[in-house]
Amino acid sequence: MVASFERALAAGLQQRAEQQLYRRRLTVTSAPGAEVDVDGRRCINFCSNDYLGHASHPKLAEAATLAAKRFGVGSGASHLVCGHSSEHHALEEELAALTGRPRALLFSTGYMANLGAISALLTKGDFVFEDKLNHASLIDGGLLSGARFQRFLHNDVAALERRLARSDDEGRKLVAVDGVFSMDGDIAPLTELTELCARHDACLMVDDAHGLGVLGERGGGCAEHFELNTAQLPILMGGLGKGLGSSGAFIAGSEALIETLVQFARSYIYTTAMPPMVAAASRASIALLASEAWRRQHLNSMIERFRHGAEQLGLPLMASSTPIQPLLIGDAGRAMAYSGALMERGIWVGAIRPPTVAAGSARLRITLSASHSTEQVDRLLSVLADVSLLDRRGGLSYD
Ligand code: PMP
Repeated sequence: MVASFERALAAGLQQRAEQQLYRRRLTVTSAPGAEVDVDGRRCINFCSNDYLGHASHPKLAEAATLAAKRFGVGSGASHLVCGHSSEHHALEEELAALTGRPRALLFSTGYMANLGAISALLTKGDFVFEDKLNHASLIDGGLLSGARFQRFLHNDVAALERRLARSDDEGRKLVAVDGVFSMDGDIAPLTELTELCARHDACLMVDDAHGLGVLGERGGGCAEHFELNTAQLPILMGGLGKGLGSSGAFIAGSEALIETLVQFARSYIYTTAMPPMVAAASRASIALLASEAWRRQHLNSMIERFRHGAEQLGLPLMASSTPIQPLLIGDAGRAMAYSGALMERGIWVGAIRPPTVAAGSARLRITLSASHSTEQVDRLLSVLADVSLLDRRGGLSYD
């Protein structure tokens, strides 16, 4: 590489490290689950989005293996060329039924679903309103679309209303929010948002990456939880890589919406379709939502157990009722020190730092799963108690 370029990269990396924001990957050498082997150490995993424990479920592996034998591993092309298999098609129909929408369209990742949908639906002169804590893919989709981009205070319906009222009538208006906010775990006030959107002729889009499989009686996600039909919530994005334990994502909505995305969403058109074996595993996962409903119940009891225990210990819980249960630490270096001390004691919890979250709001992002036992959650609480005591006594070193 050109020397000046190389020097600029090195300087950028050094700055990241000095700000305590350097990110490193750890290597997992076992199947996902409540306990994993990471960098040669066995630990209890509290940082996965595999909320139902489906990722290592034998039914998913079996479905994927059978599909690999029948369809091969790769899809071979994009959906519009020759990559759209009967497994993809059946999965789309099952996802539409699960979310109560006329149709669903698969994307290879959630990032691509959000990017492709927003940029296909809006153009210069339109408006997009986004919650400040939205996932990066919703933000990037809004920026890419060229629409007038406005962010409003987190979950603040009144602030959004002021912005909607101020924008003139020309142009489409899209309001996009996370259903469950990925770093805070709280749920968007979707009932109020649907009413507001109806009053201002705006279209609501919800990213339900963290709600699908987890929220709702049947695991149908936030649309089921809030009982929102397609007219109220026209654009629903759901993820397959979290609660459902496989990979990929979809957008669900009306016939016209889905056909528009097929024709115009560039991240749908110009990319290889997800492997059919992943679609088959996702179908097996949807079947488990009905046949193993106990997973959602157990998950909810783990969430309650953790929150109750953390409250007793005076830990800095945030206002979340979902499997995402962050502890607000504040300083990035301190959050890293906590995460390191937990890892030394066999507990894996990631420290989330800026720019993923706002400066001064670094946190431990604890996630609970139906695969956790009560003993594992109790172990997490007792280790957190030890580490926070160590911190209070000045025994936890951080810059
Ligand atoms: N939306 C939200 C709210 C997310 O948390 C994520 C994943 N971190 C995505 C979208 C992107 O999904 P995927 O990982 O499938 O690209």
